[in-house]
Amino acid sequence: MSGRILVVDDIEPNVRLLKAKLEAEYYDVITANNGMDAIESARQFVPDLILLDVMMPQMDGFEVCTRLKNDPRTRHIPVVMVTALDHQEDKVKGLEAGADDFLSKPIDDVALFARVRSLLRLKMVMDELRQREASGRALGAISDTMPRLDDTDTPANILILEDDERQCARLAHKLGEGYHLALCTDPREASERLDAENFDLLVVNLAARGFDGLRLCARMRSNDKGRVIPILALVNPDNREQIVRAFDIGVNDVLLRPVDANELTARVNTQLRCKHYADTLRQSLDSSFEMSVTDQLTGLHNRRFMQTRIEDALTRLERGVESASILIADVDHFKLVNDRWGHDAGDKVLQEVASRIKANMRAIDILCRYGGEEFVVVMPGSDINAAMQAAERLREAVALEPFELGSEHGTIPITISAGVTELFKGDTHETGLIRADKALYHAKSKGRNRVLSAGMNKGQLQESLG
Ligand code: GH3
Ligand code: MG
Ligand code: MG
Repeated sequence: MSGRILVVDDIEPNVRLLKAKLEAEYYDVITANNGMDAIESARQFVPDLILLDVMMPQMDGFEVCTRLKNDPRTRHIPVVMVTALDHQEDKVKGLEAGADDFLSKPIDDVALFARVRSLLRLKMVMDELRQREASGRALGAISDTMPRLDDTDTPANILILEDDERQCARLAHKLGEGYHLALCTDPREASERLDAENFDLLVVNLAARGFDGLRLCARMRSNDKGRVIPILALVNPDNREQIVRAFDIGVNDVLLRPVDANELTARVNTQLRCKHYADTLRQSLDSSFEMSVTDQLTGLHNRRFMQTRIEDALTRLERGVESASILIADVDHFKLVNDRWGHDAGDKVLQEVASRIKANMRAIDILCRYGGEEFVVVMPGSDINAAMQAAERLREAVALEPFELGSEHGTIPITISAGVTELFKGDTHETGLIRADKALYHAKSKGRNRVLSAGMNKGQLQESLG
């Protein structure tokens, strides 16, 4: 996952060290040496993440963070505070200023990349929701009276999964008033309640002896209902490996044991704030909007929605925020399917192609049925190489496994051809689609079941190495 990261520190060697580490992992890094410059750069370049030193002369990190979080232009950018020592008060002060996470100096690589990945992932999902909201407004499907993202009065529902009842009670006591708490000591019971009830947060002790908390986290992340519930995991500080795995599985935040009451409350509130924000955005997309932008046969987005999303991607591109690519895929010899097995079988094939597209693209990609047996995927944040890889993965997923058409017809082999292009400044959704379509045309004429990319210049076509 690539992303643009702003590194802020008043000591130049610190900046250079972090920059080198991050660039080695292919992140795009910009830097600032003081608070004012940091705010200026954040506004101008809108990075995906900010690593912010706490101790700086003139304006310290807390002040910078407070200002960033009070500015609608920069509010959504995650901020990681870098503290010289593992000062508990600093953490609480940082969280109150709106910081999303912490690292202590000297910065440990494992912790650094785990935090960076997890926050970038969160930001991508939030960006997607924000964009959907903007598209909804543009299409007139969302009124301007969407509720403000203020904190609600209803207390949040939190499920705590701990080793035993005493530990549960202790944690509940640390959290204090103001929440609806459900206390569990059995992962199976926790899992059932998470499915059946509406929770806003799961707090799970990964150091528990009685159960494997990570297993529950992984299970939650694999189902639709569980995926949107934030997870705060309690871990032992010496268990590095578990921390990394927790973040990889999709745990939103970890808290080191023994649990400090202030830090617990602060981190819980941060997660609840994000959840509330995401919920509000989701609700604003009412069902009539979903209907108006959805293709009925496949459940993918329709052409109208696709156009607005390519335009969104182009806007971000023009602002230098991130690259984007698109692909057009077309079912090979689809007319034969209709002719030989009938129109209903043809429809089934289209539905199966759609579900393989869903299974092989990322959550942030926008999956559309362009018309007939043609599909378009808009890939925000992907350059041509990433997009070609995704397209090749999709081609393979279709070609390798024959399609099951039920007892009447058995299974039939299906292939697709695809054209891929990166979007460039100056493109419109039409010019982008024309280029991708040209590449698709060449893929067809070279024998089908293949992926070709089109560059900016005429005749610059390249085949994937699949
Ligand atoms: P190529 O490999 O060159 O793409 O050949 P093709 O046969 O796939 O392409 P062609 O464009 O000639 O045929 C597309 C067919 O798709 C014709 C049309 O009847 C059929 N079609 C379009 N929409 C639908 C649909 O919603 N359901 C079904 N069953 N068929 C559809
Ligand atoms: Mg066609
Ligand atoms: Mg076709």
